[in-house]
Amino acid sequence: MAALVDVAGLAKHFPVSRGIGDMLAGRRPVVHAVDGIDFTIARGETVGLLGESGCGKTTTGRLLLKLDTPTAGRIAFDGENVAALKGPALRKFRRRAQLVFQNPFDALNPRFTIARVLAEPLVNARIDTAEHGARIALALARVHLPDLSRYEDLYPHQLSGGQLQRIVLARALVLEPEFLVADEPVSMLDVSVRAGVLNVMREVRDTMGLAAVYISHDLALVRYVCARTLVMYLGVIVEDGPTADVVRAPQHPYTKALVQAVPVPHVDQSHDPLPIHGSVPDARDPPSGCRFRDRCPYAVARCADETPALREVAPGHRAACHLI
Ligand code: SF4
Repeated sequence: MAALVDVAGLAKHFPVSRGIGDMLAGRRPVVHAVDGIDFTIARGETVGLLGESGCGKTTTGRLLLKLDTPTAGRIAFDGENVAALKGPALRKFRRRAQLVFQNPFDALNPRFTIARVLAEPLVNARIDTAEHGARIALALARVHLPDLSRYEDLYPHQLSGGQLQRIVLARALVLEPEFLVADEPVSMLDVSVRAGVLNVMREVRDTMGLAAVYISHDLALVRYVCARTLVMYLGVIVEDGPTADVVRAPQHPYTKALVQAVPVPHVDQSHDPLPIHGSVPDARDPPSGCRFRDRCPYAVARCADETPALREVAPGHRAACHLI
């Protein structure tokens, strides 16, 4: 079956303001936030987009939902070129593809009651008012907040972080989307309520058959919710495979370091951690060849000259390293 989302050669470069050195040298610096990535997402598939801050995962999520325009490349959603969507076709896409924000306190208008927050997507999508009550009740039941009468007249600041993130998720579900992008969906929540919200997300995944991208720096979250994991480093994908394989047998040195940094039950992590030093390089001037080479303990001369291709290392499992 054709993929629901098909991404080819996707890139996003942001011009940034010039410092005095740039002006003197006549440079126009550009951040290479996303730099030519390819992947597909099947209907009903949950994909984790994993990587450190600044690796391009949030930009990728925004591009997938047409909240930003790509510099190059193409995203097809159900066979249609997302960049070309306008008018009714764009409105239809907006109903089918939804975003769950990182910070529930920022995501909701503080002057709107919860009832209005939940109805707003339905109004924007011009859904018949007669359907609003049933749709909102179903979305709230999906996130285990079944009794709207307890919340409808409250304002966002009157709810706890966990309740609010469930409202944010319910708001994304009232239109019964087929595709969800969740950007660090529990990172702003207390540890004590994260598990509850993650369980809701797993249930939503299983009951609605949604395709979803979970953007996270947290391997434990991705492992808990996602069937497949894409690992990003400095604007490119370095590994892509079934989550169980990526965690048990990571192929790329960067993925190995991520896995070794997090305790994973039933996975042997007794060997010494990889000696990865420093931080992610400046995305205005990414290294030539392999972007990970400055931090890679295995780097060889070829790594500076040739960009490693993302190639299949096992069925359904790809990695980008010259030594694999
Ligand atoms: Fe390390 Fe070279 Fe592989 Fe990049 S291509 S991960 S630098 S060994």
